[in-house]
Amino acid sequence: MTHIAVIGGGIAGLAATRRLALAGAQVTLFEASDRLGGMIQPGRIDNLTFDIGAEAFAVRGGAVAALATELGLGDDLVAPRTLGSWAHGAAGGYRLPGGGLVGIPSALESEAVDPALEAAIGAEGVASVHAEAALDPAIGADAGSLAELIRARYGDTVLERLVAPVVRGVYSLDPDVVDHRVLVPQLARRLGQHGSLGAAVASLRAAAPAGALVNTVRGGMHRLVAALVAETARLGVEVRLGESMHVDDARLARFNGTLVTVGSALGDTAEPISAEVVAMLVDAPELDAHPRGTGLLVADAREVEAKALTHATAKWPWLAEAAGAGRHLLRLSYGARPGASAARTLELSDGELRTRALADATTLLGTPLPERQVVGLARQHWRIPAPSARLGRPAELAALRERIANTPRLEAAGTWIDGTGLALVIPAVDRAVERLLAAKVS
Ligand SMILES: Cc1cc2nc3c(=O)[nH]c(=O)nc-3n(C[C@H](O)[C@H](O)[C@H](O)COP(=O)(O)OP(=O)(O)OC[C@H]3O[C@@H](n4cnc5c(N)ncnc54)[C@H](O)[C@@H]3O)c2cc1C
Repeated sequence: MTHIAVIGGGIAGLAATRRLALAGAQVTLFEASDRLGGMIQPGRIDNLTFDIGAEAFAVRGGAVAALATELGLGDDLVAPRTLGSWAHGAAGGYRLPGGGLVGIPSALESEAVDPALEAAIGAEGVASVHAEAALDPAIGADAGSLAELIRARYGDTVLERLVAPVVRGVYSLDPDVVDHRVLVPQLARRLGQHGSLGAAVASLRAAAPAGALVNTVRGGMHRLVAALVAETARLGVEVRLGESMHVDDARLARFNGTLVTVGSALGDTAEPISAEVVAMLVDAPELDAHPRGTGLLVADAREVEAKALTHATAKWPWLAEAAGAGRHLLRLSYGARPGASAARTLELSDGELRTRALADATTLLGTPLPERQVVGLARQHWRIPAPSARLGRPAELAALRERIANTPRLEAAGTWIDGTGLALVIPAVDRAVERLLAAKVS
């Protein structure tokens, strides 16, 4: 019988394990930590269970929904409320305009301007969005970083107020080190085709199917992990917790093939990104009005240390119901200070973190939240693999891919090599499993 080793027990390793076992292979799953699920984990405060890692998935492609459906969770897939997102800058909160892509506004079809856009970037910024449509398409065409591209086409205000908060908050990267060709591969191509970045964004948005861009599982994404764990147990998979594995480990010689879902197991030395998620449950009926939509991304505010706040109970109706009347779950994320590598909150005690998170939430939501309203706090440190959109990373990954291609009976998948998010990871896992079964172990 074909016996495959899978390294890493996050969603990639679990999904691969299940596929391999369903195809009739015997599988041993090596997980370095004492728990499965990787960056998808439940958090708990006062009987409320929620996601403290990944909280949603992009619906594009349909692969994640298909997996959830196979696992019996199809009826529990739900969309977020569409209340809009906000950003917070030195002058306070402002609505991010709809219809954009990674914060880049789509072309303005008429002189009528989204008031949110005007409030965010002022008349001068709006003028730069109008003017962009008439710029020579060659301007910015050879930009390496996303920041260079946006600066060349719109100037600093659009970069700092609209694009940077999204890129920092969502991808934990500074736009100066983001390779736009990797982050949004079609953008540069469509700039050439449509003549402007705004028109390129509008065409990409128009090409996206109607409906919500993301979904989650009612009860939390961690249910997907629980369902996969149950399925692997049913299929007789051997799970070895607390066992860190490397592809050169002699113990792998007895397997017919190896699927690796973590770069470190292949000697990838890229520095991960350190981020801390702080979830805070508050008894605050004054937040029932969802004062900042589903949450905010932080631009250039000195008094706030968080890089983003998700008003989770505003975003997910199932969570609001589970939390109960007047209770709200706020998820704040903290990254490293410029030049540092560890998330800035790691050194704080739980008490200090509570004070910090409360101050940030009060400022960001524009609503005083006294200490006595806090029901509880949960914190989780994440070490996120170096994003594939970081400048220079594609070359590093190409070298690792070559090594994998030249090693018999070895395949790789997972966020470290396929990019951030389940919509990329799950289809990549399926392809890697197929390759492993078809070629390398036959
Ligand atoms: C705070 C946060 C929010 C996110 N939000 C979203 C979201 O809303 N939507 C979305 O699609 N994605 C989101 N993501 C990203 C998403 O979580 C990841 O893309 C996905 O979960 C990665 O799965 P993975 O299995 O590739 O890697 P991981 O989840 O990192 O799993 C890797 C596993 O391998 C183990 N391991 C490491 N080294 C070894 C070794 N040498 N031997 C054995 N085991 C090892 C680790 O302990 C870990 O369990 C978020 C991530 C974070 C941190």
